[in-house]
Amino acid sequence: MLKEEPTRKVMLLLKKFIIFKIFLSLMLTLPLSPTLAKDSAIEAKGIELRVGLSTSARSASFSSDGGLIIICGGRKIYKDGKIELTLEGSSIRIDNLKVSEKLTILPASRGLLSYNSKPYRGRFEIIPNSRGLTIVNVVNVEEYLYGVLGAEIPSSWPMEALKAQAVVSRTYAIANLGKHRANGFDLCASVHCQGYGGVSSEDPKLKRAVDETRGEILTYRGEIAKVFYHSDSGGFTLSAKSAWGEDLPYLKSLKEDFYQETSSPYSSWKLEIPSTKLMELLNDIGLDVGPPKDILITKKDEFGFRALSLKIVGSKGAVEIPATRFRQLIGFTTLRSTAFTISKKEPLERVRKANQRETQNEAPDIEKPKKRRNVNVRELLAKGLSYDEIILILAEAYGIIERDVAPKDEVSKEIIFPSKPDERVFIFEGRGWGHGVGMSQWGAKLMAERGKSYTQILEFYFTGTRIEKKR
Ligand SMILES: [Zn+2]
Repeated sequence: MLKEEPTRKVMLLLKKFIIFKIFLSLMLTLPLSPTLAKDSAIEAKGIELRVGLSTSARSASFSSDGGLIIICGGRKIYKDGKIELTLEGSSIRIDNLKVSEKLTILPASRGLLSYNSKPYRGRFEIIPNSRGLTIVNVVNVEEYLYGVLGAEIPSSWPMEALKAQAVVSRTYAIANLGKHRANGFDLCASVHCQGYGGVSSEDPKLKRAVDETRGEILTYRGEIAKVFYHSDSGGFTLSAKSAWGEDLPYLKSLKEDFYQETSSPYSSWKLEIPSTKLMELLNDIGLDVGPPKDILITKKDEFGFRALSLKIVGSKGAVEIPATRFRQLIGFTTLRSTAFTISKKEPLERVRKANQRETQNEAPDIEKPKKRRNVNVRELLAKGLSYDEIILILAEAYGIIERDVAPKDEVSKEIIFPSKPDERVFIFEGRGWGHGVGMSQWGAKLMAERGKSYTQILEFYFTGTRIEKKR
């Protein structure tokens, strides 16, 4: 997750419109991905990754202690200290120069390069277009991982769990080279791909986890593995087949026998949501069944743990939707997993309780309403923007895109939307956080605490894969 913790509001906003698209795009693109590195790419002397930090910057500043070198159209310009770039039409303005082609900026000496005062390793490429400047940090994959781990996992966790994360993040990065090719880079720096904060998110212990696994990736029958991870499985992981229909032998449903010892704050949670709120959310995606009367789990995974499909019965009809779609609708940080039971409080009972409360003069135990802001993704789509472009616009605007990994901060075990006494309230009691496919970070932590090595952790979650060391 990100260093700068986003507001709940922003997370709510973003998750609703985007996350499922991300999930879908993952599902859709991964099986076809022709860019999954073959040995040649991996064996290249250190893979370089192009990480997109912005696609629509209006301006950007760069500095380096030992000065900068700007390469533009075969020309090399040396600059002392700091430079400011601004967008002018679809060109870049630097001092009295106006250029309409790609710029490369690198430190003149061995120092780091700062972009908008934040230090980064490697070099930068700035590509102008009418929407703004695309800012790309070109960095070696190992150095990229230094800046990823700090955004994805707490450094206080046991070393073997950090090393497992390093291998999974490396595998993910290499397997997804070119994911944002249409934007002019490989991976974005938000959790849509993997959170990346440059040098400011580095930590000595996390660096050691990267260094001690240098070049190691997971492969299956010689091909790079498609890896996924999530925060907390709740005790059972979900197979890729159940999640999105792709039968991958190393992404099976697993039971974590050790789970009862977990200290995860997400091991159990509760969400209360009133039917009118639910109706509003359904209406937003064009589903009108009236106020929901019932929500039934119509399909579960092989452990009977996660819901795969739900039927929502309203006064005007019924609709069946995939549980992941439902989760996206409610919000990935609000409905934390699809491992839940559903119960409800009927209106009459609620009125009675509310009256009791009134006589006892107790304040109702509810959180402040969470305001939703409308982002018209449809409008952006109509303008011809791709999902990836929209994701990036939102990521820049709000500082975060949630992937299915829980924030590091402690979060409330209960989310209760305000409701009126005369409306029906649905209660979801659940376990875990995330889609449940691949490695559970909290599970990896627990395995490491019980003395398992990172190779054992990876063997457990990605059974049948091999760790191969490539340079
Ligand atoms: Zn991305």
